[in-house]
Amino acid sequence: MKYSLVNNLKVEPFPGGKGICLCCRQPTVSKCGIKVIHHWAHKSLVHCDNWWENETEWHRKWKSHFPQECQEIVLFDSLTGEKHIADVKTKSGIVIEFQNSPMSHSELKSRESFYKKNSLDCKWKEIL
Ligand SMILES: [Zn+2]
Repeated sequence: MKYSLVNNLKVEPFPGGKGICLCCRQPTVSKCGIKVIHHWAHKSLVHCDNWWENETEWHRKWKSHFPQECQEIVLFDSLTGEKHIADVKTKSGIVIEFQNSPMSHSELKSRESFYKKNSLDCKWKEIL
């Protein structure tokens, strides 16, 4: 993840950083090595967002075209408890996911369905 909560602010990783996951509220630690893009990781292995994939520079560059407050937006279905982190949600409510690896058609439909509901159904909540 590019962001974690530190002192209740969305913050990018920094050396020695400790934060809270935007999605599951579990502790995170910053990873600022030289091999992998700087990111936040859960301190312990938790099942947070099963759609989340490790990010590349490609993902980061695309996300960075949008304001910080539109990046990594947690969307929550209060009926099922399902939560996912959208790469971008624009101020007008459009959800954008940047995908650069293969995905099955059923997986694509599942994601489209989740995000489409979010934009249409007021029972869905946006966290942060
Ligand atoms: Zn999490």
